[in-house]
Amino acid sequence: MKHGYLIDMDGVIYRGSEPIPGAAEFIRYLQAEQIPYLFLTNNSTYTAHDVVVKLRKFDIDTTREHVYTSALATAAWVHQQKPNGTAFVIGEGGLLNALADVNYAITSEQPDYVIVGEGRSLNFEQAEKAHRFIARGAHLVSTNADTWCPTDHGPRPGCGAIVAMLEAATGRKAYHVGKPNPFMMREARKKIGLSTDEVIMIGDTMDTDIRGATDLSFQSILVLTGSTTPETLAEYPFRPSRVVSSIAELVPKAGKERQPSPGETLLRDAMLAL
Ligand SMILES: [Mg+2]
Repeated sequence: MKHGYLIDMDGVIYRGSEPIPGAAEFIRYLQAEQIPYLFLTNNSTYTAHDVVVKLRKFDIDTTREHVYTSALATAAWVHQQKPNGTAFVIGEGGLLNALADVNYAITSEQPDYVIVGEGRSLNFEQAEKAHRFIARGAHLVSTNADTWCPTDHGPRPGCGAIVAMLEAATGRKAYHVGKPNPFMMREARKKIGLSTDEVIMIGDTMDTDIRGATDLSFQSILVLTGSTTPETLAEYPFRPSRVVSSIAELVPKAGKERQPSPGETLLRDAMLAL
């Protein structure tokens, strides 16, 4: 059956600056077999081009058409909701570029939206401005709800944690566009050009990757190289279609005999009977 993959990156392809063994081989296999794929990340820090350059370091050669970030999804969402609007942004280059590409003006005057993305740029002056804009009617939107991010040195507060602070201060609830929001999952499916039952999501996080796939009836593969352990998996009411120890398990083994199709088996049996 025709199929293709949406592939989370952190915890699936790499951990911090370390590649996960088998990831580059799996992508090369998809490319050789012309199986559609799209990297799907909640990290809004980087542009698609930044991601392509980063993946090169891990021996993965791809193009920006194969990358979809929560920054791009957030820009698409605000563009759909209010074309040519204005935003005050707490975030980095990936988000700022994506908003510029949909004709959003970045402003420090009263904006339509306060948009929070992933990054390390937050300071109290920004938090104070954001609070004031939201109190005066700007809508609070975030690229993702992840409350922490893995780094080479351990966890750090994520976009969701910054948003939680603004929610507590203003009493308003944010709208999160990233995985598992069906908006981002559906945009990714359209980008990859497949129908619902042809899409397989590979990810390491139950609350985002597997939840997002489950909500849209995509198939899903959970890898155990990231944030989920077999013990925590049991706590969820929904399940991935399949669990593998790492993405390396998805690379067809060279030399392993391909299973014959039913037609081939019939043909072989008929030949043996002669
Ligand atoms: Mg991940």
